[in-house]
Parts: sequence; structure tokens; C-alpha cells
Amino acid sequence: MKVSVILPAAGLGTRMGRSAPEKSGTSRKQFMLLEGSPILLHTIRKFVASPSVTEIVVALRAEDSEWASELLGHERFRTPVRLVQGGDSRQQSVENALAAISIDTDLVAVHDAVRPFIDIEAIEKVIAEAAASGAAIVGIVPVDTVKQVHLNKVRATIPRERLVLAQTPQVFRYDLLRRAFDKARDDGFIGTDESSLVERLDVDVHVVAGNDRNNKITRPSDMELARLFLAEEAAQRVAG
Ligand code: C5P
Repeated sequence: MKVSVILPAAGLGTRMGRSAPEKSGTSRKQFMLLEGSPILLHTIRKFVASPSVTEIVVALRAEDSEWASELLGHERFRTPVRLVQGGDSRQQSVENALAAISIDTDLVAVHDAVRPFIDIEAIEKVIAEAAASGAAIVGIVPVDTVKQVHLNKVRATIPRERLVLAQTPQVFRYDLLRRAFDKARDDGFIGTDESSLVERLDVDVHVVAGNDRNNKITRPSDMELARLFLAEEAAQRVAG
């Protein structure tokens, strides 16, 4: 089975602000350094270590491709890693990568470059679920009570047992994801994840339980936690 992984990494990271620590000459979160390596590289390493993954395609802004390709060249990954040019939206970046993946791909896994703490078991679990059912995402149950609001007033309390927070990886059969992107493009639909595109085909998307470490690194305070998680991962490697 061929499993291609798409890592959208062409965002501007505007929510991170300019005061973020450990910058690599840029404030964009996907390139901030954690233990000397850009976050993107930590994320790529997780997928290289996943036995099911057969290729990785990273969507980057044009101005980043030269240094990123040099950086990746030094790593000598056993899984092929290719770079494509991203777009103005996350969806466009993923669509550009989708157009570049091997035609004989069975499954496509899309994962935010800024979620470096995905664990390999979760990657394998969501791939296995998508291999069986066609469409699967990683999700976690919210710990807070979720309210629907309008103009600053609570309109409803959504029963928590019916909610999950959608994370990535989101994994789909290749033909299904192509169809979902074609339909979204025809309809002018822009979603914030791939599942929302696939759901529009009336396909069941299965949810695999995730882990709250797999948060998207979004704000400066997320970097503090990221350093802690990374130190713990390193300690586990030494112990194991
Ligand atoms: O902005 P958001 O948090 O949704 O970004 C999620 C991921 O999508 C990030 O890894 C970001 O780099 C990527 N992205 C992209 N192209 C864009 C915008 C975001 O690849 N135009």
C-alpha cells in the first residue's frame, strides 16, 4: 500500500507575532527552532519514522524552498521528501501538493507542519482506519463546555459527548480526496481542514482518538510547552 503524506508549511504564522523566542530569522511558526531544528523538521521526522509512509510532500512558500531543500538534503531521510510551492490558503497549499503526489498512491495523509508532537502510534492508527474505511481523522474530545454564541450572547450549550476537536493527520483514499478537492473548487468552497471537503461528498469520516500533545503550535506560549514535550520525548528515547 502506498501512503503519501502532505505537510502544508506555507503559512505566514501571523498569530505568532514578532516577539516569539528562538527565531530562525523568521517569525513563522513552522520554522521556529526547537532544540536547534525547525518545527517542520521535527514533524517530517515523525512521518519518516512511521513504517506505513512511502513519500512525503511539503508545501512551502517559494522564498523558502532553496534553504529548506538544502536543510532536508543534509538529513538523508529513508523516505523520499519532495517540496512543492504552497498557495495563498492552506487548502490551496494542500491542493498543490495533491497535484504532485505519485499517481499510484492509495492513501493520502494531510498533517499540519506545526503539529510536531504527533505520535507514531496515532499516525499508524489513523492510516489503518482509513485503509479500512476510506476516510479517518484524529480528534480529541473537548475538556471545556462549548457554547454557541451570537453577538456576545450564549445561544446554546452543545452537548460535549457529541463533539470532537479535529486535529491532523486526516487520511483519505486518494481518489476520494481528489474528488473532494474538485468539488470544493467547482463550488468555491474553502474549508479549514480536508475532512470538511470530504464530508461534502456525503462520505462517513471516522474519528480515531488523538492526544492533546498534538496541538497546533500557534501562539508564543505554545513554544514553552513544545520545549517541555521535546525534552520528554528525548528522555523517553534514552530510557527506551
Ligand atoms: O494557519 P493554520 O494554523 O491553519 O495553518 C495550518 C498549517 O497550514 C500550517 O502548517 C501552515 O504553514 C499551513 N499553511 C499553508 N499555506 C497557507 C496557510 C497555511 O501551507 N497559505
